[in-house]
Amino acid sequence: MPFKFDVYDRSVYREPAPLDRDDPFRSMMERFDIAAEILELNPGFYEYLCRPTRTHITSIPVVMDTGHIKVFEGYRVIHNNVLGPSKGGIRYAPDVSMNEVKALAAWMTWKCAVVDVPFGGAKGGVVCNPREMSPGELERLTRRYTADLIDVFGPDKDIPAPDMNTNEQIMAWILDTYSMHSRRTENAVVTGKPVGLGGSKGRQEATGRGVMTVTLAAMDRLDLTPDDCTVAVQGFGNVGSIAAQLLQESGCTVVAVSDVTGGYYREDGLDIAAMRTYVQNHDGTLDGYDQAESLTNEELLTLDCDILVPAAKEDQIDAEIARNIDARIIVEGANGPTMPDADDILNEKGVLVIPDILANAGGVTVSYFEWVQDRQGYFWTEESVRDRLEQMMRTAFERVYETAEEHDVSLRIGAYVMGIRKVAEALRIRGIYA
Ligand code: GLU
Repeated sequence: MPFKFDVYDRSVYREPAPLDRDDPFRSMMERFDIAAEILELNPGFYEYLCRPTRTHITSIPVVMDTGHIKVFEGYRVIHNNVLGPSKGGIRYAPDVSMNEVKALAAWMTWKCAVVDVPFGGAKGGVVCNPREMSPGELERLTRRYTADLIDVFGPDKDIPAPDMNTNEQIMAWILDTYSMHSRRTENAVVTGKPVGLGGSKGRQEATGRGVMTVTLAAMDRLDLTPDDCTVAVQGFGNVGSIAAQLLQESGCTVVAVSDVTGGYYREDGLDIAAMRTYVQNHDGTLDGYDQAESLTNEELLTLDCDILVPAAKEDQIDAEIARNIDARIIVEGANGPTMPDADDILNEKGVLVIPDILANAGGVTVSYFEWVQDRQGYFWTEESVRDRLEQMMRTAFERVYETAEEHDVSLRIGAYVMGIRKVAEALRIRGIYA
């Protein structure tokens, strides 16, 4: 089909109103635009792939413990399912928005394509503050959200997983609600569930482990050895704390970590295992941990270290912070932590950025293993999960690296090129159903 750049219709995502600078959907699209031009993507494909195929908004009534009914807003966005059933987590947060979920769903599409798992991309969100809700309220919210989306979810259709503020227990409630409606136990409808319900060994640590694997792969490329590398990690949740621990076990010195309560620094290295235990015993945060010096968020991000792992949330590294970054490698454990206007600055400074859609893909990779195991009814050893995860992450890293070299672009644009190319090629072969 003939192709012309000038017919890309960017109004598709910029109108009726231009997107805010810190809108994650804009952050996704700015990179998508660059990759689309490199790929000479058919303008019709461009228009199709920058929109979600479906968006769902649901009002979720919940009887609170007081007896009052409160109504929460929930989202599920299917960005694309050309490569297979759509896949992606559900986040519970007071500030989650439709545009954020749309961006996160698109990132799932590219992420699955980059690591070569046969899924499309999706994401869900519920506007709520789980810290202020009782377990009973959270259960009722989760079950009603699942019931509202019962026709959307399914092991062959759309498969949720944990994301920010959701966990194994919430996945178990989704499994149970879905199974009650289908009149049979459907454990492949959700991943990241407890091992006793058909979850996979190694799923919980998978994102952090994937972060470690690509970090070591990047060190190999730059001729760095873990023993000589210092690390700072922003975020001490499921991704950041495990990445910190595994990097430390690999020989790196983790000098700083942070969570919502602030940053913690120790020049000779923090005791990450002790900090993880502390968090478990202190309501999920590092508040009051006194075996370290304190640090602001900005000081952590601009610390003199070799490896920086932003593993908290979106939009943490703007142009200003990027100018002051001292690390040689940035490994994006979170989705969308770097704003588009920081990309060029980091590139010019020669910082190697391992982008989110590659760096944090370990989670969805083991979700894929979990789905495969559920469908086979045959469960793997933890060692086998780890080996396969490492192999897939290493392969993806090398392929992204080569694609970036081939087009003389950053690893981020290399990863977008790889992901979009794969989906566009599948779309071309499938054709447009009429
Ligand atoms: N929420 C994770 C992510 O952003 C995992 C998604 C999944 O396993 O489906 O990649």
